[in-house]
Amino acid sequence: MDILITGGAGFIGSHLAERLLKDGHSVIAVDDLSTGQMSNLDVALQNPNFEFIKGSILDMDLMQELIDRTELTFHLAAAVGVKLIMEQPSQSILTNISGTENVLKAALKDKKTVFVASTSEVYGKASKMPFHEDDDLVIGATVNLRWSYACTKTLDEFLALSYAYEQQLPVVVLRFFNTTGPRQTGRYGMVVPNFIDSALADKPIMVHGSGDQSRCFSHVKDVIEGLIRLMNTEASRGQVVNIGSDQEISIMELAKRVKSLTGSSSEIKVIPYTDVYPHGFEDMQRRMPDVSRLQGLTGFVPETVLDDIINDIIKEKRSLGEPKVA
Ligand code: NAD
Repeated sequence: MDILITGGAGFIGSHLAERLLKDGHSVIAVDDLSTGQMSNLDVALQNPNFEFIKGSILDMDLMQELIDRTELTFHLAAAVGVKLIMEQPSQSILTNISGTENVLKAALKDKKTVFVASTSEVYGKASKMPFHEDDDLVIGATVNLRWSYACTKTLDEFLALSYAYEQQLPVVVLRFFNTTGPRQTGRYGMVVPNFIDSALADKPIMVHGSGDQSRCFSHVKDVIEGLIRLMNTEASRGQVVNIGSDQEISIMELAKRVKSLTGSSSEIKVIPYTDVYPHGFEDMQRRMPDVSRLQGLTGFVPETVLDDIINDIIKEKRSLGEPKVA
């Protein structure tokens, strides 16, 4: 099949491209390289069935051309990560809303299938655990720009599901929970690569907030397996699906685990949110997915244990040489 990946030079997109090529598909990756990197595509670029296009999802003509040339789209391009969103809120909002609108409108012409990347952030401050796809979403006040990311992704979901309802556009909404693994950069505040970079450099591991907040991390290779299975499952069309692991760990415990697995002498430092984020920042205490829908549709859920995920990233970073820590 001919497949388009928006955000194809990013962390998840580049792993997905490699897997699709390995499975015999042809892949076009479009990316503006804002947070993605060409080096992520070193392997994919060696495959004659791969094409990279530097461009933006905000370019409607380009989106139409690429969607016309392919049968199915994984729409992963977005302004990603709370830190980036809080630094560049207006541009992030436009990218996430207008870009997704372009992709969905272009797909509408010939009713091409689109997988739309959303996020566990949409659950906001909901406290009922685990988060189920049909649960209410509890978003914070608009003065706290953190929530703009969740709101843009929520609107993307509404638009995708509206086109599915009104015009039978085959869409699948992917609610990714914390995904990590080789190639994820710590530059935009992603916690696991940040901790590992600090540990490998024997610099302090900075735990933001109390460290009691917990997350569930999954290995990107498991997430990709989930995506491939959803792609091959017609019953996924029209659905919203949580994608993640339900192994929970506190951020303090994560810091300790990273320190131990790297054999680092780093100190673990707790720093208040006010030292890192603008005034009024709110975090979510827990974020755990109900993965029964993913399991029901595909028979699969992410299962790689956290130590193996951390060790994979350590291995990659050691093979690349000295970690870069500010
Ligand atoms: P990433 O930053 O590595 O990937 C996003 C890619 O989109 C980057 O390569 C970036 O250059 C590209 N991009 C941004 N704006 C663009 C534009 N206007 N035109 C073209 N390309 C553009 O992040 P990722 O972790 O691979 O995230 C992929 C998707 O998954 C995103 O939609 C994100 O919201 C979602 N997601 C990821 C996680 C996670 O834990 N990694 C969690 C929840 C949701």
